[in-house]
Amino acid sequence: MEKTLFQKIADHEIPAAMVYEDELCVAFRDVAPAAPVHILLVPRKPLPDIAAAAPEDAELMAHLMLTVGRVAREQGLSSFRTVLNTGADAGQTVPHLHIHILGGRKLEWPPG
Ligand code: AMP
Repeated sequence: MEKTLFQKIADHEIPAAMVYEDELCVAFRDVAPAAPVHILLVPRKPLPDIAAAAPEDAELMAHLMLTVGRVAREQGLSSFRTVLNTGADAGQTVPHLHIHILGGRKLEWPPG
């Protein structure tokens, strides 16, 4: 099966500003940042979105949640927002599960 864009980035086949890597996930800077700090945290497993996660992915999901805090701390963020866009109407453009980590400015609520 054709690799997703984010699999190619995780495998270093497409360049990205990588900020974190381990055996289960990678984190890199968004190419079109919506905030001074905008990181994408991506599992190596190509789940299309959060709704596709199954019980067998529980450990991976927990690992991603724990890694959010680690990446945010390493970026110096004490205040930040995490976003998981799911589906076209929510603005998802890359069909590989990714968690946006946004910070470095005041973020409004509710989001658009
Ligand atoms: P979403 O709209 O939630 O699917 O988020 C996809 C994100 O991926 C967008 O914020 C894009 O700016 C970002 N993006 C797309 N291509 C790349 C790339 N090659 N490197 C880094 N970020 C990317």
